[in-house]
Amino acid sequence: MSKIAEILEKAEIYRDKTARNLSEMVKIPSLSCGEELVIQEIARQCREAGFDEVRVDGLGNLIGRVGYGPRVLAIDAHIDTVDVGERSLWDFDPFSGEIRDGFVLGRGTADQEGGAAAMITAGRILKELDYDGEYSVYFTFTVMEEDCDGMCWNYLIEKEKLVPDFAVSTEPTNLNIYRGHRGRMEFEIQFHGVSCHGSEPERGDNAIYKASRFALEVENLHKRLKSDDFLGKGSITASLCESSSPSLCSVSDYCRLYLDRRLTWGETKETATAELAEFLPEGAKITIPVYDCPSYKGTVFTQEKYFPTWKIPEDHPLVQAGVAGYRNLFGAEPKIDKWTFSTNGVAICGKHGIPVIGFGPGNEVLAHAPNEKTPVVHLEKASAFYAALPYMLEKGGK
Ligand SMILES: [Zn+2]
Repeated sequence: MSKIAEILEKAEIYRDKTARNLSEMVKIPSLSCGEELVIQEIARQCREAGFDEVRVDGLGNLIGRVGYGPRVLAIDAHIDTVDVGERSLWDFDPFSGEIRDGFVLGRGTADQEGGAAAMITAGRILKELDYDGEYSVYFTFTVMEEDCDGMCWNYLIEKEKLVPDFAVSTEPTNLNIYRGHRGRMEFEIQFHGVSCHGSEPERGDNAIYKASRFALEVENLHKRLKSDDFLGKGSITASLCESSSPSLCSVSDYCRLYLDRRLTWGETKETATAELAEFLPEGAKITIPVYDCPSYKGTVFTQEKYFPTWKIPEDHPLVQAGVAGYRNLFGAEPKIDKWTFSTNGVAICGKHGIPVIGFGPGNEVLAHAPNEKTPVVHLEKASAFYAALPYMLEKGGK
């Protein structure tokens, strides 16, 4: 029996187990910075699956490993979720973890504990196959992604010195192979004015007017931002505006504007800041906000809110290994595409230059949406794909 046939057989045997593991995760709410209980449950599942190593790092990420090879393949799932939003929009309990009509239901099933459950089964399959190839396969279950994408991986690379040769993000791709997405960043701009009595505004200098003129320039800037054939167009928009003044009968002396910037290929923190500086009024100040919330372990690992753009070419050996795995397992051609949203790839590939592909169960349109669910058959196929990937990489994507 070929390795591929064995992997497919085991993925099917463990299909319902994979769904039940996901169900157990969904029952434990795991908002960013509050993931401790779900990490404990996933550690239990990894140990039960026979992983060679299971440990929690200094930030609170769970690291599971199968294999002892000299090269490092990392397969990543962030296991924090966003909140449920308006409950009345849900047709079922977001934390029931119910398995019904071929789906696992609930918050986090698509984004993206489904990937985590499939990864655990992939580790189990590799152990049962006595995988002893050239890769150590690290399964990472990472924290705080929804709050600050990539920070968990900056921690793994910079503090834990876990530096993969290749990485896979298991964020939802509807079982397509993804190879990049736009980056993003945030700006805070502070405008100062001079207050005076509102009855004679000419004596003052209104900070709200300065911010407003600037905001309209931002609207124009958006229209002339460049596009990339694969990743699409960069974007910028004002997201928040706050001002103050001595009273409601005064000229405003302070205004703060927040901007959301999506960065396409070739756009960086430096280029995006320089564009704004061109029409920034004198005395106004641009800063990039810093994320500094403590993890559930109390660890503070700060990061500037800059999430670099990344993509790898379609003919890259990692993409081709994914394509070969897909063809061999499923007898079809995969669709190769990109995410619309941001992932931990901003740190792994965007900042650190380590090649990443995406392959995950579930549909990304259900991420952060009510009635989130993931097909059980996606979980089965994803577990087979992750188990096959180290073999495909060794064969050079053949
Ligand atoms: Zn996600």
